[in-house]
Amino acid sequence: RQGTDLLTELAQDTTGLLPNQDSQLSAVSDDARHVLHPWADLSSLGTHESLIISEAKGVHVVDGNGKTYIDSIGGMWCVTLGFGREELVEAIADQARRMAYYTPFGDVSSEPAAKLAAMLSERSPGDLNRVQFATGGSTAAESAVRIAHYYQKSQGRPDKIHILSRRNAYHGGTYLAASLSGKLADRTLFHYETDIVHHMKSPGFDPDISDVSAEAFLADLIDDMERTIAEVGADRIACFIAEPIMASGGVLVPPPGYQKATLDLCRKHDILYISDEVVTGFGRLGHFFASETRFDIVPDMIVTAKGLTSGYQPLGAVLISDRIAAAMSEAAPKDKPVFSNGFTYSGHPVACAAAIANIEIMEREDICGHVRKVGPYFIDKLKALRSSPIVYAVRGDHLMACVECTVGMETGPTARNMALAQRVDRYCEEAGLLVRPYENLCILSPPLIVTERHIDSIVAILGASIERAGKDLR
Ligand code: PLP
Repeated sequence: RQGTDLLTELAQDTTGLLPNQDSQLSAVSDDARHVLHPWADLSSLGTHESLIISEAKGVHVVDGNGKTYIDSIGGMWCVTLGFGREELVEAIADQARRMAYYTPFGDVSSEPAAKLAAMLSERSPGDLNRVQFATGGSTAAESAVRIAHYYQKSQGRPDKIHILSRRNAYHGGTYLAASLSGKLADRTLFHYETDIVHHMKSPGFDPDISDVSAEAFLADLIDDMERTIAEVGADRIACFIAEPIMASGGVLVPPPGYQKATLDLCRKHDILYISDEVVTGFGRLGHFFASETRFDIVPDMIVTAKGLTSGYQPLGAVLISDRIAAAMSEAAPKDKPVFSNGFTYSGHPVACAAAIANIEIMEREDICGHVRKVGPYFIDKLKALRSSPIVYAVRGDHLMACVECTVGMETGPTARNMALAQRVDRYCEEAGLLVRPYENLCILSPPLIVTERHIDSIVAILGASIERAGKDLR
């Protein structure tokens, strides 16, 4: 069941979602003339025709021409509960009607922000019971680092300002978050903070293709971290920031024991451990937070966003341990006790109302349990694509995965491999599937409500598109 059959089936799923063609045409032209997109190809500025997505329901989205696609990206790793959830829409509308916005600064708050902070604390690992809200993942990651700086300085360690990160990491697009990120492909003509940011080895380990054992790979990563700590000086390092599994860097899964071993090193050297769960949190790996349940660590801070509201509203949060919050409070300078970090829209009441409804639905429908069931099915089905000669690797965990394409024996993001992956992406789009291309990778992070039937369709279209791209090269 490929191509037309699948599309007919999808079209039936989304009947009633018919966009207005005139407004589509003007959207394409307004977009080309006026929008500078994040991560867009600058050489086609003004001429590129964007795909305008206008309607969406469940795991499907519809473009301006009425064409239906399965969204295997979850918007952008974020639409976890799927599109068109009336309960989320109602929660947003109710809060907007009641009280759309008021400042979160100083000693003013709103009911949704207070309630959400309590709900997050109840579901977080260990003593992570204090929440500082942000506006998304980047501002949450930056806030976590600023908290680490404040904490270290408040404890009489003014030189502990350096930050450990990893190559291939992604922590956001603001100045410091982009500097923490270690994706070389993103490093272009911008300026980055280099004085205090140190990138260690990328932790991605793939047992299917590695020629060293997981234990040896882990030992090398830990050596590298120890060496970096010794070079920079433990007394100068404030924190280590790490995604439990790297997402945008190419779904890079560390070897077993990595998270625990890095936490132990941090503890030994009084380095705060910040777990960036912007992608891995809120169910993508089958748990509210992956840090404790999956990787057996209780970090000092967790950064979350995206699935926090299922992408229905922009919101981010840093969960901070009581230990750190209390230490900062006790040591705050008596003449200047103000904690000057936060944003106009930190804990926006409408976004918090969406997050509360999101958590309620997740629990009522046992979304995490569902992911634990379909996640292994998704990975197994995808792994079957490895039989194709142009698939070099398939890796992932539950509902985050990636297929790495290769021309012949070449590996990595060579120009030919990237062109190949783009071709796969184009054929997927033609056949009604949206995947996220990055270098020579096709990245997949479907809404968490995907069923085995959806997964079969995703893998069938991806497989057929890979076959087609492969034939072009023969
Ligand atoms: N951290 C991680 C792990 C992410 O994947 C992202 C975005 O993809 C961010 C932070 C930045 O989040 P945002 O784009 O909401 O600022």
